[in-house]
Amino acid sequence: MMATQLTQTLPPQQFSPDIRGYDYDLVIVGGGITGLTLASALKDSDLNVLLIEARVTSAAVAKGQAYAVHMLSALIYQGIGVWDKILPQIAKYRQVRLSDADYPNVVEFKTNDIGTPELGYVAEHQALLQPLQEFVQNCPNVTYLCPAEVVNIKYQQDIVVIDIKIADQIQTVRSKLLVAADGARSPIRQGAGIKTSGWKYWQSCIVAFVKPEKPHNDTAYERFWNSGPFAILPLPGNRCRIVWTAPHEEAKALCALDDQQFLTELSRRYGNQMGKLELLGDRFIFPVQLMQSDRYVLPRLALIGDAAHNCHPVGGQGLNLGIRDAAALAQVIQTAHKAGQDIGNVKILKRYERWRQWENLTILGFTDLLDRMFSNNFLPLVVVRRMGLWVMQRVPMLKVFTLKLMIGLKGRTPELAKHL
Ligand SMILES: Cc1cc2nc3c(=O)[nH]c(=O)nc-3n(C[C@H](O)[C@H](O)[C@H](O)COP(=O)(O)OP(=O)(O)OC[C@H]3O[C@@H](n4cnc5c(N)ncnc54)[C@H](O)[C@@H]3O)c2cc1C
Repeated sequence: MMATQLTQTLPPQQFSPDIRGYDYDLVIVGGGITGLTLASALKDSDLNVLLIEARVTSAAVAKGQAYAVHMLSALIYQGIGVWDKILPQIAKYRQVRLSDADYPNVVEFKTNDIGTPELGYVAEHQALLQPLQEFVQNCPNVTYLCPAEVVNIKYQQDIVVIDIKIADQIQTVRSKLLVAADGARSPIRQGAGIKTSGWKYWQSCIVAFVKPEKPHNDTAYERFWNSGPFAILPLPGNRCRIVWTAPHEEAKALCALDDQQFLTELSRRYGNQMGKLELLGDRFIFPVQLMQSDRYVLPRLALIGDAAHNCHPVGGQGLNLGIRDAAALAQVIQTAHKAGQDIGNVKILKRYERWRQWENLTILGFTDLLDRMFSNNFLPLVVVRRMGLWVMQRVPMLKVFTLKLMIGLKGRTPELAKHL
């Protein structure tokens, strides 16, 4: 069911500004998956939350993306109570095959490596977004404002004052904390003067959906070609998601091919393990960058998701890091609120920054290392990485460590994910 479109006037002030001085405990800007996850994770708190999303619900839902969803993200959604609505619409993968171009030694990750029924999931954008939108609309402590856009912010000592444009009218709300979940360009991060470090890659990423002739057998493939990593992710209905990284010019040229030529090129990278391929819908091209914000918090402000960091798509990490940010921030502010502390105080918010900034940096570094190690023809590196794959397939401890790192089971686990 499509989530209700809300164009609403903000509810009358719940608190007298003379006594409390604010309208909301926190305002989340950005109703993408990360912002929605944070709002949902606060459902059992007595925090009064305002969630603002600029794009109409149908536009947000129509984003042609799909994501590898890691085990820790699944546990977080189970803890929130929304997983039952997500699971029927997504695919499970039970095997991952990692290989270097046409080198025959493949590293195989299987469910019995970590003793779980599956290794992870693959979800189309709307399969995550819609259940989350519906979930927050049933949280009595969350006001979901969509479409509405934040146009101005003033940080004061005890509150943050936010101007919101709703159908050509400006309304002002005051909050103890502002959370920026407003994506990679994050006007809020930029407006607050938070600097970032990182670089743009020499590669772009092509994404497409295909239907193979033979069953995908719940297998995900990550194949490293010299031009860049090439991933195949299984989807429901025996469809697959292609995430194909190549240098900018090559990626543009590939996107400009007609469907038949594109399929021929695709099949060369893909191999013939699933028979003939049928292209489903359009292909999209995305720029790729690594970015880490120098700070995740300032007084009365916290950044989560792509607003805080971006990484190379290899290993399908970006959104999963954002989901973990949301669960971590929800935990930090709920704990502070229960103890009667001010959730917008930077000393409290630093607990979130200390938790997430280094963990995210580790994954950003790991994806960068993978991309650089494999995206070249330099012979000594080719020898080292092929030996590495050979060793990994034969040393279970190393294989399990790598797998757990990639699916989020190596960092600090949020309480929300500790329910089993
Ligand atoms: C090719 C490619 C493949 C990828 N594959 C994977 C994968 O397999 N697994 C994975 O984990 N990650 C993957 N990623 C990364 C993932 O796409 C992002 O990390 C994720 O979408 C970020 O979500 P977000 O909610 O933080 O930001 P966004 O999805 O960008 O959401 C931000 C929201 O904020 C809203 N907004 C912005 N400004 C305002 C404002 N002023 N007022 C109100 N609302 C506002 C926007 O409308 C938007 O809805 C991939 C990325 C690429 C490029």
